[in-house]
Amino acid sequence: MTTYENLHLKIFKEKGDMMEEEGLQQKISRVIYDLTGNFVKINSVRYEGPYIVIYTDNISFFLESDNYIAEIAKVLKERVVIRLERSLLLDPKKAKGEIEKIVQKEANIERYYFDSVFGEVIIEAGKPGLVIGQKGENLQKIKERTLWTPKVIRKPVESKIVKSSIIHAVRHIVYGNSAQRLSFYTKAGGRIHRIPVFKNSWVRMISLGGSKEVGRSCFLLQTQESNILLDCGINLGSKRDFLPYLGAPELDIDELDAVVVSHAHLDHCGAVPLLFKYGYRGPVYCTEPTRDLMALLQLDYIEVARKEGRPLIYTFKDIEEELLHTIPLEYETVTNISPEVKITFYNAGHVLGSAITHIHIGEGLHNIVYTGDFKFERTLLLERSEYRFPRLETLIMESTYGSVKNILPPREKSEALLIEYINKTLRREGTVLIPVLGVGRAQEILLILEKNFNRKKLIEAPVYVDGMIAEANAIHTTYPSFLSESLRNKILHRSMNPFTSELFTPISSREARLDILQQGSAIILATSGMLTGGPSVEYFKNMASDQRNSIIFVSYQVNGTLGREVQRQGKGGNVYMTNDGRGEIIRIEMDVYTVEGFSGHSDWMQLLSYAGKIQPKPSRVIIVHGEKSKSQELAHAIRSMRKIETTVPTNLEGVRLC
Ligand SMILES: [Zn+2]
Repeated sequence: MTTYENLHLKIFKEKGDMMEEEGLQQKISRVIYDLTGNFVKINSVRYEGPYIVIYTDNISFFLESDNYIAEIAKVLKERVVIRLERSLLLDPKKAKGEIEKIVQKEANIERYYFDSVFGEVIIEAGKPGLVIGQKGENLQKIKERTLWTPKVIRKPVESKIVKSSIIHAVRHIVYGNSAQRLSFYTKAGGRIHRIPVFKNSWVRMISLGGSKEVGRSCFLLQTQESNILLDCGINLGSKRDFLPYLGAPELDIDELDAVVVSHAHLDHCGAVPLLFKYGYRGPVYCTEPTRDLMALLQLDYIEVARKEGRPLIYTFKDIEEELLHTIPLEYETVTNISPEVKITFYNAGHVLGSAITHIHIGEGLHNIVYTGDFKFERTLLLERSEYRFPRLETLIMESTYGSVKNILPPREKSEALLIEYINKTLRREGTVLIPVLGVGRAQEILLILEKNFNRKKLIEAPVYVDGMIAEANAIHTTYPSFLSESLRNKILHRSMNPFTSELFTPISSREARLDILQQGSAIILATSGMLTGGPSVEYFKNMASDQRNSIIFVSYQVNGTLGREVQRQGKGGNVYMTNDGRGEIIRIEMDVYTVEGFSGHSDWMQLLSYAGKIQPKPSRVIIVHGEKSKSQELAHAIRSMRKIETTVPTNLEGVRLC
C-alpha cells in the first residue's frame, strides 16, 4: 500500500470513530432503558482499552450496575465497565475509615491504592476472603458507602524464602501511574474499536522465531486490517540467533495492534521490552501472574547480564513501559483486541498464569488456538491444560518433546528416582546441585522435597534456594486461584503454604555460596536451569571436581547451552566455560544425572493425546517450538492419526490460514 493510501485510510478511520461513538451512547441508553425501565443519564461513553466504559452520576444505577453489566455486554458484544463521575467519590482518607469499619481486623489489610482515574480502590490484604465477605456483602457495602469500586488482592506472604519486592514494585508502577495508564487505555481503546475499512477475507501467520527450534518464539498474525504478535522471546542457547526476526518486512511496529504473551518464560517474553525500546506503545495482553513473573524474569535477566559483563539489550525503563502497557486478562473471558479479533485465554498447565490463546477472527471467518507451552497432565502445581474450545480451524502447537523417544516416565517413578539420587549423594556426604528455571520447575521440585521430608523418605539436609526462586515463590502465593485445586485448598483453607516452609533457606550472595559449600552436604536449587548464567553456574564450577557431589537436571536442556554440554559429556568429561572473558576447561568429576518427568511440557504421548482429543477437530495443525526433526516427527504422526493437514514452517516463512 502506498503512503498516500495509508494516510487516506487513517483519516477515514478517525472520522469513523467519532460517528460510532455518538451512536453508541444512544444505543447504550436504549439498552439500559429496556433493562431497567428507567431513563438513566449517561454522561459519557469512552473506549478504554478493550472495555466500553459508561460514566454516569446516577448513584443508584451505579450501585446496582453489577446486575446489568452482563446483559449490556451481551447486547454490545463488548466488555463493559460502569463508573461514577470522579467528583462523587468519597475522599480517600474518609473512604479508608469507612472500609475499616466494614471489614474485620483479622482480614489483615496491608495497604490501599486509590486509583482515582479508574475509580477503583485496590485493597491488599492477608486474608482477601474476609475483605470480600459472605457472597461479596462487604464489597457491596464498601461500594455503597464510599462509591469507590473495590478490588481485593492478596498480600504476598513474607517469610525466609518468600520475598516479594518485585510484586511491590510491579504494583507500585501499575497503580502509581494511573493518569498515564488512562491515557494509554484511551488511545488503545480508540484503536481497538476503529471501524474496519475492509471486509476481511484472509489470515496469515509469519514465523519470526521459534520454528524448527526451541527459543525466541514469535509469531505474527496478519489480516488486511490487524497485526498481532503472539509471544516475543529470546533464545538463550544461541549467541547468533538470539533474537526473533523483528526486522522482517511484514512487521511494522507502528501498525501492531497487540502483543499476546502466553507465559512468563524468557523464550516467550524475553524480547517484549525490546519492542518498547523500539517505540511500541500498544497493549500487551497476558494473565496477571504472567505480568508479575515476566517482570521478574526480565529484571533478573538484565541483572545477570550486567553482572557478567554482557551487553544489555534493554533497560529497566523499557520493562517499566511494558508494565504500564500491560492489560491483564482472566481465563475464559472473551476480549476484543482489534475491530475483528477477539481472544480468550485458557489454562495451559505449564507454569503459573500460562495461557492457551483462542483467537477468533472476523465474524466466524477463522479460529486459531495457539497452545504456547502446555502440559496435558496434572502436576502438583497446576491443573492440566484445557482442550475444549468453542470453534477451531487452525491449531498452532508446541513440540518440545515431539519425538517417540520423548516418552516421559510416570511422575511417581521420576520422584522416586530424584529422591534416590539425592539420598545417594547425601550418604557419601556430597552436595546436590539442581539447576532449575526460577518459575515452574523450582516450585514443583520444592513441593516434592517438602512432601518427601514430611514422609521421612528424604535424608535430612539443609536445602538452599538461590537466584530469583524466592521472588517467584511469592508470586505463586499471591495468585492461589491459578494453582491446582489441592494446592489452592492448602494455601487458602488450611494455611499450609509449602512455599513458606521453614525447610528452605534463601541464599543471595557470592560469599554465602562459597560458605555453604564448605559446610558439608546440602541440597541446592539455583537458577538458571540450563547453566546459561546466574548462581547455578557458580555452584557448578565450584562443585564439579568433587566426586562426592552430584548435579541433577530436571528440565529440558536446549542445544548450545552449558547444561546440554554437561549432560552430554557426563562424569569424566570436560566442558569449556568462559568467565570474565577468560576461557577455562572444567573436568567433571561429580555425578551427572538427568531425571525426566517433571517437565512442564507435554511429552510425546501427551502431545498426541492432545491432538487427538482437542475439540472441535481442527482442519490444520502448525507445529512450532521444537527441534526440526521433532517437529517433523510430530507433524507426521498427527497427519496419519487424524488425517489433518500439518505444517512445519521455517522462520520467516508465511503460512496462509484462510
Ligand atoms: Zn515455557
